[in-house]
Amino acid sequence: MVARSLATIFNQISTQIFKPQSQKLPVYQLGNPMLRETAKPITDVSDREIQQLIDEMLVTLKESRGVGLAAPQIGRSLQLVIVASHPNDRYPHAPQMEPTALINPKIISHSVETEKGWEGCLSVPMIRGLVPRYREIEVEYIDRQGEQQKAKLTDFVARIFQHEYDHLEGKVFLDRVETNLDLVSEAEYQNILQVAKQVATAHTS
Ligand code: ZN
Repeated sequence: MVARSLATIFNQISTQIFKPQSQKLPVYQLGNPMLRETAKPITDVSDREIQQLIDEMLVTLKESRGVGLAAPQIGRSLQLVIVASHPNDRYPHAPQMEPTALINPKIISHSVETEKGWEGCLSVPMIRGLVPRYREIEVEYIDRQGEQQKAKLTDFVARIFQHEYDHLEGKVFLDRVETNLDLVSEAEYQNILQVAKQVATAHTS
């Protein structure tokens, strides 16, 4: 009994000490067939490889300064996304949240109302698009501890979820724009942001 407990403790300690350092992974770019595949569900969340994949995705997202990442973007055709909203230029009031891994996510209901908003994607560099998304969604997923979760998401977080969920179905935001006129270059997008800021300042001063 004592021997078994010691073995368990040793295992826990050694997992911490010898845990491989997670590294930023290359993000697959538009044109790679992986981005067009339908991702497979994850059967065992506690699997060490899955847990390591989550850690690698968290590092990759943080170093890329993104707000979301889906497993197919780093070459794994699995139903796993990270959502990590934080305030930024586009959405200064975006909620600050702990980066969260969502496994086998599903949209179980959504508002009728949609809203167009700017999106970019680590797999589609230098292009931004105005994408219509449901303003409010109810989702189900498994967390990294293996617990089933349900959540209501609105606005920016709902947008991130829908963008990442699309990656699991082999879609990118370019497939969702209503017209090609809603696509702009990164440089032009920065101009649009500047103008929007000036208008906001003019209105408040
Ligand atoms: Zn994306």
